[in-house]
Amino acid sequence: MGHRHTILIPLLLVPALFLGWQEWRFQADQDQFSVVAVRIADREVRIECQRFTGALLDPTAEAGYVPFNADGSPSDTGRLERDACNDLRDYVHGDKSNPTLEQIIGIQVLTHESYHLAGIRTESETECASLQRLDDVAQWLGATADEGRSVAERYYAEVYPRMPSAYRTADCVDGGALDAAPGDETWP
Ligand SMILES: [Zn+2]
Repeated sequence: MGHRHTILIPLLLVPALFLGWQEWRFQADQDQFSVVAVRIADREVRIECQRFTGALLDPTAEAGYVPFNADGSPSDTGRLERDACNDLRDYVHGDKSNPTLEQIIGIQVLTHESYHLAGIRTESETECASLQRLDDVAQWLGATADEGRSVAERYYAEVYPRMPSAYRTADCVDGGALDAAPGDETWP
């Protein structure tokens, strides 16, 4: 019996430590995303990433989701679908000098859901407010100012024009009705 224990304990300990470390990292990343959402929504909110079992059962194709209450107020938790969350986690832990388009979309999903948590419900308004904050959010996640600017510009040039029409509006242009800084020539 004494011999068996000395073999079994290290064998079980390694996967247990690995799983514990993975879970710790998962929670730490969710906490970091929640800090972004709190800054944008300006209230106590939380971001939760979908788990593997949830992804298998998820019938929707939405990258993120914030339920709204019957009185029109948003709930306190925003959910990120598994792929969007993983792309975002890859961005946070990766080289930010040349992010993939999927990683840029991941940043936008987090920012977009944060604006829903702030109380904006219309998709086109949410999307427009969000794409003007991508440079800030990228920096909060560890990018330099130049890298953050590039994230916002690439999203507006490469992704926004391909979004479904409900997510777009002609007001989302420099100097337009939804320009968050009308006097500023930097866009988005
Ligand atoms: Zn939305």
